Amino acid sequence: MLKLEHIGIAVKDLTASVPLFEKLLNSLCYKTESVETEQVNTAFFKTGDTKIELLESSNTNGVIAKYIEKKGEGIHHIAFEVADIEAEMARLQTEGFVLLNEKPKQGADNKLVCFLHPKTTNGVLVELCQEMRVEI
Ligand code: ZN
Repeated sequence: MLKLEHIGIAVKDLTASVPLFEKLLNSLCYKTESVETEQVNTAFFKTGDTKIELLESSNTNGVIAKYIEKKGEGIHHIAFEVADIEAEMARLQTEGFVLLNEKPKQGADNKLVCFLHPKTTNGVLVELCQEMRVEI
């Protein structure tokens, strides 16, 4: 794993949480993005080399809505950048970790992502992400 890429935080309402985190971090949200396949709206902040990703459900039945219903707002996942996501997924599977998706899927922020089941990672939802290369 190359570095801690971002921390994902589940929030109920981006219109309230974006200004809150802008105040907290003293830095403006630089990007918002909706990921329809995940039923989520995201907002990104830079904190040095790492980012904060706020996640709001775009749908009352979305995974983030369900998460907040169960656990409330708060840290949802931590994401590590990897150089080769398929190789890393194969390595982790061999080590006994349970992957939540068998193939990398398209996530926010131009990334391929894969999540590990929290039951194999001490309750922490871990995301692997790899920057997608733009074909020219
Ligand atoms: Zn994430």
